[in-house]
Amino acid sequence: MVELSEEQIKALQAKLQQIAGLPPEEQNKKAMEMLSPEEIEFLKSQQQGGGQCIFCRIAKGEVPAKTIYEDANFLAFLDINPASPGHTLFITKEHVQILPQLSDELGAEALNIIKKLATAVFEGTNAQGINIMQNNGSVAGQAVPHIHFHIIPRFEDDKLKLDWDPIKLSDEQFNEVQKRISEKAKDIGKKVVYDMSGKMIEEKKTKKEEPKKPEEMPRVRRRRA
Ligand code: AMP
Ligand code: ZN
Repeated sequence: MVELSEEQIKALQAKLQQIAGLPPEEQNKKAMEMLSPEEIEFLKSQQQGGGQCIFCRIAKGEVPAKTIYEDANFLAFLDINPASPGHTLFITKEHVQILPQLSDELGAEALNIIKKLATAVFEGTNAQGINIMQNNGSVAGQAVPHIHFHIIPRFEDDKLKLDWDPIKLSDEQFNEVQKRISEKAKDIGKKVVYDMSGKMIEEKKTKKEEPKKPEEMPRVRRRRA
C-alpha cells in the first residue's frame, strides 16, 4: 500500500482542489498530467478503502458497529457518539469521500433508502421529527472522509443545537451569489447521449414543463344536458 507523508497529502489535496475546479470532462486528463504515479496509487488505495478509513473497515466487518440496515451497496449503523438516541449513519460500502463523487446510480438508490430508513428511525424511536445531515469537507465539519448521512431523531425539548445565526446580505450580494451559482447549475438537467464514435447526438433538458395557467388553457364549452 502506498503511504504519503502529511506534507505530500497536503500537496495532493491542493492539486485535487485545482482539478475539482475544472469542467468534469477535463478533470481526468488534467489529473493524469498533474498527479504522480505514487499519488494516483495512493488515491486508488483510498478509493478501495485500502487505507485506514474507519467506515470502510466497518463496511468490511473488520470493526464492529450496531447495524441497522445492510444491502449490497449500503450500510446503516448507530453513531458511536449520538446526538440523540437512534442517531444513525448511512454509508456507501464503496469508499467515496464526498457527495459530488457519488455516482448518479448510487446517489438515486441512496436517497430512496434514506427516505425509508428515516421513517424506520422515526418510528423506531417514537421521534417527533428527523434531521438528515451530510457534511462535505473538514471545513463543513466532516470528520470521517467517507461519505455518510446522519439521520438524527428529534424530540421536543431535546436541546440539540443544529441551527445558525443568519447573516445579513445586501440585495447586490444576493444577486451576485444567485448569478454565480445559477451559472454553475445551468447544465444540471442536461441529458447528453453519445453515439458509438463518441460524438454527441442528443441533448435535452429534463426540466418538467410548467403546468399551464388556467387563463392559457383552451376553453371547452360545456354541452347543455
Ligand atoms: P462527521 O463529523 O459528519 O464526519 O461525522 C462522523 C460521525 O461518525 C461522528 O458523529 C462520529 O461519532 C461517528 N463515528 C466515528 N467513528 C465511529 C464508529 N467507529 N462507529 C460509529 N460511529 C462513528
Ligand atoms: Zn472509506
